[in-house]
Parts: sequence; structure tokens; C-alpha cells
Amino acid sequence: MTQSGMPQWNYVPSRTPVAKVQRRVTQWRRACLAQVAPDRPIISFTFDDFPKSALNGADVIEAQGGKAGFYACSSFLGQRSPVMGEMFDAETLAELRQRGHEVGAHSHTHLDCAQARLERVERDIGENLVALAEAGHHETVSAFAFPYGETTYAAKRWVGDVFATGRGVLPGFNLGETDRSQLRAVELGASEAHRRRAMVMLEACLRRKGWLFFFTHDVGAAPTDYGAPTELIEELAARAVDGGAILAAPTLGAVLSGVID
Ligand SMILES: [Zn+2]
Repeated sequence: MTQSGMPQWNYVPSRTPVAKVQRRVTQWRRACLAQVAPDRPIISFTFDDFPKSALNGADVIEAQGGKAGFYACSSFLGQRSPVMGEMFDAETLAELRQRGHEVGAHSHTHLDCAQARLERVERDIGENLVALAEAGHHETVSAFAFPYGETTYAAKRWVGDVFATGRGVLPGFNLGETDRSQLRAVELGASEAHRRRAMVMLEACLRRKGWLFFFTHDVGAAPTDYGAPTELIEELAARAVDGGAILAAPTLGAVLSGVID
């Protein structure tokens, strides 16, 4: 949220050398150690921010017998993104609940948690939870995704206390000793390179029985630079099921992986 109270659509995290080093250090300081050891591979398709078109992703995952996760940034509620179009609203949340998908938190202002003091991070995520409740979402919110994947060790500790899982954007799948407050995830996009990376990661996860998050934003036949083609999600979901995986929303994924009880 900018000072004027409008949602921020154009923020880009710092690319300075210092920020890059801090990012690397944060990545290696595991805040909430957990063991990921599912009996079957788990694939969690997740949608961030999130535009209403992400419900196309819900359709695809349901058609394959699974559920997905939707990380809601509450200052976007009812807004129109200049890039991704109509964002989720109270009705979208109700529909997802009714269909058995999971609504997760994603901060209120799409906060860069690496650049804010911990008190600000706590307040912003608290506002996120209050806003979701005011929008009629009264279920316990137990999944969180860091905006831009940006975080600090202190923020990871706090998120690990409040939520069952915190998802980042570091590429890879989760297996064995894992930081449940900075779970790895693979971005889905429209390019052939995105498709190949996703496929390679999926095959490795199926083979080694890990827990793989995919993340994207809008979903459609012609997605934006932030989104993924419906066709790609269909292809990945079908292959995952064929390879013996369960398509689970984040918190169920955490239970099936043995990360939480
Ligand atoms: Zn986001």
C-alpha cells in the first residue's frame, strides 16, 4: 500500500549486491526445520495475489481430482490490476471455500518482508488476516506465501509460529530436511523455458517422492507475463496424477508430507 492507500502494482525488490547477499544468507538460515517424507509425491499448485482468472487453475486441478492453494493479498481485494485484470473478492473466497480449495495469506500490502522491520511485517500480515475475516473468510488461515519470495530470518521465524507453512520462490522441490517457513517453489509461465523447467522438476519430484509447489498468478489461454497458460497447468496436473502424485492444497500437503500433524 502506498501512502495514498492505493494497492502497489509496480514494486520491484532490491537488486543491489547487499540485497543479494542477504537473500542468500536468509535462504540458508533455516528457521523452522521439518522433515518432508510423503508416502506419495505431493504437488501443490498455488496462485498468488490473486486475479479471478486463477479460478481457471482451480477448474483444472479439480478435473484431476485435486485441490489448489490461493494466496490472497488483501489490499488487492475487489481491485482491478492494470496488469492482471480483476482481482479476487469476497465472492471468489466463498466460491473457493465451497469448492474445497485453500485460501492462504500473502500480506495486506504485498509487503517486501526483507526490507521491512519485523513489527511492520507482523502488522501487515495481521491486517491481511483481519481483512480476510471481514471479507467473510472465517476459517483458520494456515498457509502463507512471502510476496516476491522476500524474507528475513526473523520474518521466517514469526511466520513459522503463525502459519503451518511459508512458501518462497526459490526454485526446487521439498524433500528431507526442509525449512517449512521458506518452502521451495517453481514458477509457471508462458515460455518454453518455463515449461521445460517445470517438467524437469516435476519428473524429479515424482521419481524421488518429494513435495513440489508450482506458483503463478493469472491463468488463461493468453496469460500475462506473470501468469501461466491453462494448457500448461493441464499438462502438468495430468502428468503428476499419472505419475502417482496427489494434488494437494498447501496445508494438506504439509500433513501428507509429515511436516505438521
Ligand atoms: Zn505476490
